[in-house]
Amino acid sequence: MQLLTKILCFPTIYFYYSNKVSSSMHEWALAEAILITAQRIAKDEELTTISEVIIRVGQLQQVEIPILRFALKQMSEGAFKDTKYYIRKAKSTLKCRVCGNAWQYNPNKLDKATAEAIHFIPEVAHTYIKCANCGSPDFEIVRGRGVWLEGLKGVKTV
Ligand SMILES: [Zn+2]
Repeated sequence: MQLLTKILCFPTIYFYYSNKVSSSMHEWALAEAILITAQRIAKDEELTTISEVIIRVGQLQQVEIPILRFALKQMSEGAFKDTKYYIRKAKSTLKCRVCGNAWQYNPNKLDKATAEAIHFIPEVAHTYIKCANCGSPDFEIVRGRGVWLEGLKGVKTV
């Protein structure tokens, strides 16, 4: 057994899915997609034990992290039996379509009810957030949408 020191980073593996209003199935389907991808990587890299999986969740992605974590644990078997799952938030960047001004989404600047509404239905953001430069509500989310597998760590049998 040899500890694989290299950390595999796959910032481009994206799981995009439609943005329906939250149901617990959504987190379970997401957990399954993450595990399928992680299993494929483990197989390609010939890892027999996966010690860590790092998952990044966009700030403007409506995912209930405790449910996702629970689902991952429940579905883990074989090489993933003792895997630790790290689920981290990724900051969202917004960009004005009118003047091109870009800024970082900060839920702390909003009242709790608004931040909550945006968490569940990100499209609602356009009602509450406006460009600080020109006042337009027409912006796009350039970063921080979606869920991706950032990396995994495992042990290789030689
Ligand atoms: Zn603007």
